[in-house]
Amino acid sequence: MRMWMVDPRGMCRRHLLGEHVECHMFLATFRLGRSLAGYVRNGLVELDRLKARHDALAAEMLRRGYRHRSPLAPGRRLPAIGQVDPAANRRELARRCAECRRRLHPEANQPLRHKGTKRTRS
Ligand SMILES: [Zn+2]
Ligand SMILES: [Zn+2]
Repeated sequence: MRMWMVDPRGMCRRHLLGEHVECHMFLATFRLGRSLAGYVRNGLVELDRLKARHDALAAEMLRRGYRHRSPLAPGRRLPAIGQVDPAANRRELARRCAECRRRLHPEANQPLRHKGTKRTRS
């Protein structure tokens, strides 16, 4: 589970939907009283921003025409546990995922030209 906290518009479908589900999983984990210490230590969660983050991801899902039927309702203010580094995550996500890289860093994706290969639009 991980809160990337990068601009939702810069995320591919898989990572957008993945972080959305993981927001719900973080809330469930917290409610069950399970430890978030490992996530906190690794900068993967920022609990007090979970609701706002979920809602931003859900808004982007709806904007793209995906379905969203799972409001996140913590019921109370979540404690300030954990801190995420969005700039580092932006680099990490771009490193891991070609589609996120294309969205997050369009300037870094000038088409490669090879002799004899057709350039394709994506
Ligand atoms: Zn949801
Ligand atoms: Zn991705």
